[in-house]
Amino acid sequence: MIDVQVDTEKCDGCEECVNLCPSEVFQLANGKSDPYQASDCANCLTCVESCPQEAITVTEM
Ligand code: SF4
Ligand code: SF4
Repeated sequence: MIDVQVDTEKCDGCEECVNLCPSEVFQLANGKSDPYQASDCANCLTCVESCPQEAITVTEM
């Protein structure tokens, strides 16, 4: 199982992760990224590497 977390203190809502994630894990909610479909994560780490604010953590559990 994979856990996807967004640090909302760091996230500025740029939508990079929403646009880049191949599994459509993220949606924007109240100006912040919300990993609402984290269970679909393919662990590609594109979001982690692309987030300008380093706000995303992906952990294999
Ligand atoms: S890429 Fe990072 S800063 Fe941009 S919306 Fe996603 S989590 Fe927020
Ligand atoms: S690791 Fe890949 S599949 Fe998982 S949330 Fe990030 S971009 Fe999407």
